[in-house]
Amino acid sequence: MTFHIHIKGIVQGVGFRPFVYKLALKHGLNGDVNNTTDGVHINVECDEEKANEFLNEIIKNAPALSVITGYTIEKIRDVHYDDFQIIHSESEKEPNLLLTPDFALCEDCRKELHDPENRRCRYPFITCTNCGPRYSIITGLPYDRPLTTMQKYKMCDTCEKEYNNPLDRRYFSQTNSCEECGVKLSIYENGSIIHPDDYIKYIVSAWKEGKIVAIKGIGGFLLTCDATDEKVIQLLRERKYRPSKPFALMYPDIEMIKEDCDISDKEETELKSVVAPIVLLKLKDEIKTGLDITGITNGLDRIGVMLPYAPLYDLLLKEFQKPVIATSGNVSNSTIIYSNEKALKELDKIADVILLNDRDIVIPQDDSVVKYSEKYHKKIIIRRSRGIAPSFIKKELELSEETVMCMGASLKSAFAILNKKNIYISQYLGDTGTYDAQLNYTNTQRHFFNLLDLKPDRIVIDKHPDYFSSVYGMELAEKYNIPVKKVQHHKAHFAAVLAENDLLDCEEKVLGVVFDGTGYGDDGNIWGGEFFIFNKGEIERYSHLDYFDFILADKMVKEPRISALAISKGILKDNKLIKAKFNKIEWGIYDKILKEGSKLKSSSMGRLVDAVSSIVLGIDKQTYEGEAAMKLEVLAADYLNNKSIELHDSYIDAEQIDNILESIIKGIINDLDSSVNKNYIAAKFHISIIRYIKNIANM
Ligand SMILES: [Zn+2]
Ligand SMILES: [Zn+2]
Repeated sequence: MTFHIHIKGIVQGVGFRPFVYKLALKHGLNGDVNNTTDGVHINVECDEEKANEFLNEIIKNAPALSVITGYTIEKIRDVHYDDFQIIHSESEKEPNLLLTPDFALCEDCRKELHDPENRRCRYPFITCTNCGPRYSIITGLPYDRPLTTMQKYKMCDTCEKEYNNPLDRRYFSQTNSCEECGVKLSIYENGSIIHPDDYIKYIVSAWKEGKIVAIKGIGGFLLTCDATDEKVIQLLRERKYRPSKPFALMYPDIEMIKEDCDISDKEETELKSVVAPIVLLKLKDEIKTGLDITGITNGLDRIGVMLPYAPLYDLLLKEFQKPVIATSGNVSNSTIIYSNEKALKELDKIADVILLNDRDIVIPQDDSVVKYSEKYHKKIIIRRSRGIAPSFIKKELELSEETVMCMGASLKSAFAILNKKNIYISQYLGDTGTYDAQLNYTNTQRHFFNLLDLKPDRIVIDKHPDYFSSVYGMELAEKYNIPVKKVQHHKAHFAAVLAENDLLDCEEKVLGVVFDGTGYGDDGNIWGGEFFIFNKGEIERYSHLDYFDFILADKMVKEPRISALAISKGILKDNKLIKAKFNKIEWGIYDKILKEGSKLKSSSMGRLVDAVSSIVLGIDKQTYEGEAAMKLEVLAADYLNNKSIELHDSYIDAEQIDNILESIIKGIINDLDSSVNKNYIAAKFHISIIRYIKNIANM
């Protein structure tokens, strides 16, 4: 008898075929295994009991990096096999599979990288079936070398032997290469190519000399420099037009991270995982490595830290033995640069030295950012990108057969696609207010449509008519002649949380609390302090933060003092503290605008936090998004770490659900007038918000 097994999920580029091959040998089975555009297909010639046993062992012992989302087994027409073979991929069918993300350097490869006896010792692009780039280098499906940017490197005899040896870790490893046949480095300094004897040592010397080095990695270029060198960090800030936003760091190893940061088991596991994201860690009181903390964080109490996830970084950091700044290679807030040409043209204004390699990146990705909550150690993904994108797996979700393209929002843009019951969520694509990010968005969208050979049945856009993603979504809908659904921004946030927590089928009503900066509301106002009720598939607005005048558009978002002014209007009469934040001319103009009143109202929690930060901390203009809120949080956390606080330490009364703004602003001004400790005020403000949520929930 012959049986056919079909396995779906993340099963390509993770060593699945070699695994099945070895298992078949162990079971003494004949047949074949094949990668196609809809998953892994296996044929085995044996009786039913053996076939089921074989399938069970595949499911139970599947390769560590794979994720199986579904499988079938069926008896087919008898075929006779003389042995068990891996068949090369075929690609006639429409793609129906999840995409494999990029994987961080595995421990086996790391050992070989530093082993003088190994032929790949110090080869900066060492990989195997368990590690290396995937999503960032695919040009088509299924995942096979000719459809990746490894296609141009012809394997040398030794590599080829490994590739064809079923017992080798690099059996069918599509990224297989070595110093002789693989990826080549090149260095540019002052616009011209140089040829040092040792590329790694050269870059490390550059760091030691206080130079800024741009390095092409997995998802794009990183700008790097010595993280203990105050002068070069300031220089990087000036050249990058980034006055104070914190920089991420890369450390040589976990031991050195522990010298500077408090780290939980979960955080350590996350850092060492195949994703190897930036993890936001609490700084210790005493910094042992000599980091220039002020230059790096500008007053925040956490730093973003990662480990060398690519062999090139591992070689460099092991040699340097100090942490380096490792920030996305871009100018100001545009998107990450990933091509050699663009790097040479644009990054040479920032970097003194540029380290290139000749392996092309198809899809740029920033490093992912993850944080664990303080008390319950819950994982919070802040930026979903390298290592996590582009697949999303949630087996519990009941998905429609439709192909749906969801366009996302604007500031932290990303899109989601439902196709053949697979969900894809793109990497973070940047702020589509910039032209760069718009290009990045459309390129990535086209790449997905091509890869998956898909035509959408429906487009979903944000209700905001002017978002790039909304306008572009309307264009796509016209092009494909398909319907568009407009979804209110915060209702979309709530729906995502419902899905993540398996609540879409919930029989009971669910209260959703969505606090945000800006989102276009159903009534045309700017929402952002929202309470919703989810009931039998419908989301309705239940309550919201009191409306205040929304004025001066983007200027209000960038300058917390304007939120302080607009929110305190009518609450405080000509308050000295607020007035002192403006010069005479500004005051004249803004006061007039507010006296006339704005037609546009806002319920944004983000703006309330800005206002409080401006009033308590004097942060009147912010140089990066979230600065005012994060600095207020630092104060509150500092207080809560040292002292306990009760729910009645609040500016809001028990059961109060109205006039929230008035109670908070008046209460804070009173406390300031009585010289109450600012850390306590910050903590009390946060407690007030918690009480507000509790009051609404009890309504
Ligand atoms: Zn490896
Ligand atoms: Zn080779």
